[in-house]
Amino acid sequence: AKDAGRGVYRFYDSDLDKKTRAVSRLQAQMFKSIQKKHFVLHYQPIVETETSKLVGVEALVRWEHPGQGLVGPRTFIPIAESSGLIIVLGEWILKQACRQLKEYQDSGLEHLSVSVNISAVQFNHEKLFEHVAAAIDQSGILPSQLELEITESTLMSTATQVNETLQKLSELGVKLCVDDFGTGYSSLAYLKRFPLNRLKIDRSFIQEVLRNQDDAAITRAIITMAKALRLEVVAEGVETDQQFAFLRNHGCETVQGFFVSRPMPGEKLLQWHQRYCA
Ligand code: C2E
Ligand code: CA
Ligand code: CA
Ligand code: CA
Repeated sequence: AKDAGRGVYRFYDSDLDKKTRAVSRLQAQMFKSIQKKHFVLHYQPIVETETSKLVGVEALVRWEHPGQGLVGPRTFIPIAESSGLIIVLGEWILKQACRQLKEYQDSGLEHLSVSVNISAVQFNHEKLFEHVAAAIDQSGILPSQLELEITESTLMSTATQVNETLQKLSELGVKLCVDDFGTGYSSLAYLKRFPLNRLKIDRSFIQEVLRNQDDAAITRAIITMAKALRLEVVAEGVETDQQFAFLRNHGCETVQGFFVSRPMPGEKLLQWHQRYCA
């Protein structure tokens, strides 16, 4: 039995080794890719349900991997977080997103804002505020045109400076959005404690909103609560015209999702906007 135990143990051990090596290799490749600027942001439109007007874009990072083509963030963001690379990568993302927004504004999309995802490690890093302020300054956009998306679990972390960081960002004038709202935590008390501007209803509720009564009830409740708390509300993952109509009819101000558009390279947005609004 002992032998078998060792055998099993050794099997898992070498498996783990393989994983560890793969992660280190990815980390090394990422580090090089950051220096060589092998990352790119795609942008997904956020539109007003009443008017179908384009009001914002969410920046979503992709890795132009030397051998593997375009790699999605779900693969590499966790590795960037655990290795600390998220700090330099995140700094670049903030700058790039603000620069792109300025370009859109100069091309006539004056009332657009840009939403940038901030991971937990990045949010709790001492340089975050500095990086945000620098990105705004260097691009020349208004602070109110930048929105930071922070997940519920990040806001609920035990880190003591969460409230202080939010206050400073809010005083700077940037907008703060709770990403993946409804999936993270059961307490709602933080909604009145923190200076938040917007709730983003998680895609998992929207997916079944027409088939599942509970998802519909939760979605309606989030919209109602957001309004009562004077928060804006956006729904993500809208894939069909029925979902769009449901959200519009229940007073959800803005939506994003494949029904409106998939995320696209920055230079495609102006063309998309001309077609979409024609
Ligand atoms: P998220 O912030 O919840 O972003 C929404 C994800 O849903 C994006 O995937 C987007 O492409 C996808 N999506 C949008 N509309 C639809 C739809 O109608 N249906 C479906 N099925 N999916 C839709 P993506 O780009 O792969 O990003 C995945 C996650 O990676 C993001 O989830 C976010 O947590 C993280 N992420 C992406 N970009 C960044 C970034 O720049 N910084 C950080 N820290 N995290 C990022
Ligand atoms: Ca997001
Ligand atoms: Ca989300
Ligand atoms: Ca989500």
